[in-house]
Amino acid sequence: MQFEHSAQEILSRLDELRAADAPTSGGHLLSYVYDPGVAGLDDLAGAAARKVQSLNGLDPTTFPSVATLERDLVALARSVLAEGVDGVVGSVTSGGTESCLLAVKSARDSWRAATGRDDRPTLVIGSTAHAAFVKAAHYLDLRLRVVPVDPDTCRLRPESVAAALDESVALVVASTPSYPHGALDPVDEIAEVCAEQGVPVHVDGCIGAWVLPWWPGAEDRPAWDLRVPGVASLSVDLHKYGYAPKGVSVLLYRDRDRHRRQWFATSAWPGYAVVNPTMLGSRTVMPVAAGWAVSRALGRSGFAELTGRIARAAEQLRKSVDAIDGLRVVGDPVGPLLAVATDEGAAPEGRVDPHRWADAVKDLGWTLQPQPGRTQPDGTRLPRTTHLTITPVTESVVVELADALTAAADTVRAVPGAQAPADFVAAARQIRPEDLTSENCAAVLSMVGLDPAAGLGGPMAELLALIEALPEPVAERLLVEFLARFMD
Ligand SMILES: *Cc1c(COP(=O)(O)O)cnc(C)c1O
Repeated sequence: MQFEHSAQEILSRLDELRAADAPTSGGHLLSYVYDPGVAGLDDLAGAAARKVQSLNGLDPTTFPSVATLERDLVALARSVLAEGVDGVVGSVTSGGTESCLLAVKSARDSWRAATGRDDRPTLVIGSTAHAAFVKAAHYLDLRLRVVPVDPDTCRLRPESVAAALDESVALVVASTPSYPHGALDPVDEIAEVCAEQGVPVHVDGCIGAWVLPWWPGAEDRPAWDLRVPGVASLSVDLHKYGYAPKGVSVLLYRDRDRHRRQWFATSAWPGYAVVNPTMLGSRTVMPVAAGWAVSRALGRSGFAELTGRIARAAEQLRKSVDAIDGLRVVGDPVGPLLAVATDEGAAPEGRVDPHRWADAVKDLGWTLQPQPGRTQPDGTRLPRTTHLTITPVTESVVVELADALTAAADTVRAVPGAQAPADFVAAARQIRPEDLTSENCAAVLSMVGLDPAAGLGGPMAELLALIEALPEPVAERLLVEFLARFMD
């Protein structure tokens, strides 16, 4: 057959497109990507993915290799995160969000089976739990009860969880650690108060569970995984610190019946029997094979060594931030994440706004992730922060990075943080989000100087201030419009 475009032409177009992307290796992007900095690993992952490129994960009985790859990954996760616990089973999913959604589905259906009710149970999460659980409650139609965390440590308090429990609660989520601040929730204490009420706990280890087992001091910390009685399920993303390409996560359950409630099966149509452990039907096996290959290559000792590199970089960066006047590390993070806030203890002229800082760090060639401040349900405030995800490769650039963090703070010290224009916010409060059409959203975006066609390459402080100040449904609708128009 005559191709319309040559392979060379197509691939060079792809190179051209990729040139506009943020760099995925080298340590200058401190979110989204997890660069182990190990020669040969990406090539191995790619080669493994190629070998299963033509498979369909829909039916592991037709392609038994799929069952073996997934069984191996579940067994590995079980050996690390459920040591000595019998009967733990699980599934491989396409990522953290899917693992979280499925844990909630299983809990919802288990609650319905146990209570004989078919109404909406409640999902209890800390205010720092990953947004995937907000999405789960939305998609799966559970009531969401958000529990405030300790505003100093950003950890979920067992007594607050206990106060949120009643017979409607199907699941409580604890994070190890939380994404925004890297705070390790006290899983053992939370599981204990939940067990008293017969409520299961899901441990969201999506980001941390493949690092914490090897993190310095691990032996001295209370157990937080499936060894804790009362933990019913646990999620861990291999496409984060398992160094696999995107598309692979593991979800473990203490018992088979809970696991089976995650599944969907129907024989109610005239086609093949649909029996799906996860959300998709036909699905790729490429990231699964890649994650499997990477984990076999590294083994536990490899993950331990890479975790050591992350921990050394994290310690150095924490020291560097501590030494910057006007900034502080939030709480006492355990693991590879740091959140940085203004040091309110400094005199006003010595303070650094974390979003101005992130913008200044960006000008020096490093991309950090600004996070909005938020008022919790009890009225306490979680400050605006800037987030750093530290990876093994960070260690090799940590001196340069620390210099940039310090220099950037010097350029924006005493510059007040961005505030959304008051008249605009007042006007936005009058808007009924249901009335917002695509057209008038676009008008609003251009009013505040946001051009979707330009993307988010520029300063972020103003945009974050807007997200903080606008009513949530309005902010959410505008964010949808912004990204949709970027992609239209
Ligand atoms: C990344 C993450 C998720 C969601 O994972 P995705 O892979 O992005 O879908 C859930 N929980 C935590 C704590 C995470 O860090």
